[in-house]
Amino acid sequence: MPLASSPPSSPTVCRLFDRHDGQRRLTIRPIRLFGDPVLRSACDPITPGDQRAVGLIDDLLEGVALPGRAGLAANQIGVGQRAFSYNVDGEIGYIINPVIAELSGEPELVDEGCLSVPGFFFQRLRYPEARVTGIDLNGNPVELSGTGLMAQALQHETDHLDGHLFIEGLEPDVKREAMKAIRASTWWRTGASSVS
Ligand SMILES: [Zn+2]
Repeated sequence: MPLASSPPSSPTVCRLFDRHDGQRRLTIRPIRLFGDPVLRSACDPITPGDQRAVGLIDDLLEGVALPGRAGLAANQIGVGQRAFSYNVDGEIGYIINPVIAELSGEPELVDEGCLSVPGFFFQRLRYPEARVTGIDLNGNPVELSGTGLMAQALQHETDHLDGHLFIEGLEPDVKREAMKAIRASTWWRTGASSVS
């Protein structure tokens, strides 16, 4: 299963839409696209228990709940802090300061896409089982693990927070073709920096 299954709408920059949920105004933030330096930078760890991260986590949970989204890293919404959200098999959650604790099984070729590389899917190797450790908003330890799409999402999103996009891990010939296709895409040619 792809990590971004629906083609993007037109690459309108900053089409924000807000809604009220209790006291907090939630905002769906635009997705930063391949080419934006924030995606190439390793994200900073969040101080355990730092409640200033509450807004970021809300935005990540809101953003990943949209149809066709399996994971969302903070730098994809322009925030260089180490956290991501996931939406796999109907379960939505988040983790702060995730690190890969364990990868197992024989790496398999899987189709993969990314909200920051809209409209494309390429095959690459991923471990079929993954375990990630980190903390929650209160600083308590969190462990996420899974197989299949969950394992793929855990690897893909942790890579984002380390400043890496999935296309970096493609086989050289696949990567060459991928880059050619990406450079021909409308969003690349128009220099769009984000999509909503
Ligand atoms: Zn991605």
